[in-house]
Amino acid sequence: MRIATYSRTFQILKDYGIYANKSFGQNFIIEYKIIDKIVDAATIDKETGVIEIGPGIGALTEGLLLKAKKVVAFEIDKKLIDLLNNELKDFDNFTVINQDFLEINIDEVVEKYFKDFERVVIVSNLPYYITTPILIKIFEESTKIESVTAMMQKEVGQRICAKKGGKEYNNLSIMSSYYSDCHIALHVSKNIFTPRPNVDSCVVKFILNKKKENVKNEKLFLNVLRSSFAMRRKKLINNLEIFDKEKVKEILLKLNINENVRAEELELNDFINIANNLE
Ligand code: SAM
Repeated sequence: MRIATYSRTFQILKDYGIYANKSFGQNFIIEYKIIDKIVDAATIDKETGVIEIGPGIGALTEGLLLKAKKVVAFEIDKKLIDLLNNELKDFDNFTVINQDFLEINIDEVVEKYFKDFERVVIVSNLPYYITTPILIKIFEESTKIESVTAMMQKEVGQRICAKKGGKEYNNLSIMSSYYSDCHIALHVSKNIFTPRPNVDSCVVKFILNKKKENVKNEKLFLNVLRSSFAMRRKKLINNLEIFDKEKVKEILLKLNINENVRAEELELNDFINIANNLE
């Protein structure tokens, strides 16, 4: 019986005396049909290497191991490591590492565990409390990951995939469109988790290594982006005060952007143009 079933999950939790730890964002999937859909969305085959963030008690890991060439999983919770090694001992293509994903060097991991692999992807039912830092880390640091297929809160996924404008739009939406082509691959009910979260979820697929737009100075561009959305109620020009206000005014005028605009009314190219002109 698969781990992602109600009875096996509860048996495992009981056998090991484990409770879902809220502070690590632990919500375990108990529906293997959803697992199979996530694995399908990630397009995994026998040549694929997978990095999993937060394997928990192995529900998604097992689904990945059935399809992939190799799975390397990073789990922060020390209590789950023996459990994972034990429950997944029949798979010789599995490695679990007891480490905070936010502290790893992704390219070094790829080099060490997936040296001659044609493709390496990241798949995760994310710990929701660190969705944004995890995604930003992958965007900014990884050069060898083909795609990320990640479960997250529905609202966060919708915001990330939002087209221009509206209150759902934020710097993560723009960063996602700068670094990837992304879309919602799956909508997921909160009822397939234990413990059950308060909100529904969705799975977003990010195809990385997109051809970069014409950004002159990436550090400055990212700084402009973060500052632009720093205070949602403020006008863009006030959020960009840290750069010379008169200069910003001048640039907006030159770019034909109303000086009363708010960040959520602009799109990726506008931020690129503003940053390029600030250079
Ligand atoms: N993959 C399992 C599943 O789908 O049933 C569990 C997903 S649960 C939402 C998130 C997992 O991420 C938990 O096992 C949690 O302990 C782990 N986790 C939380 N923070 C982490 C971090 N910084 N690095 C690695 N794992 C983390």
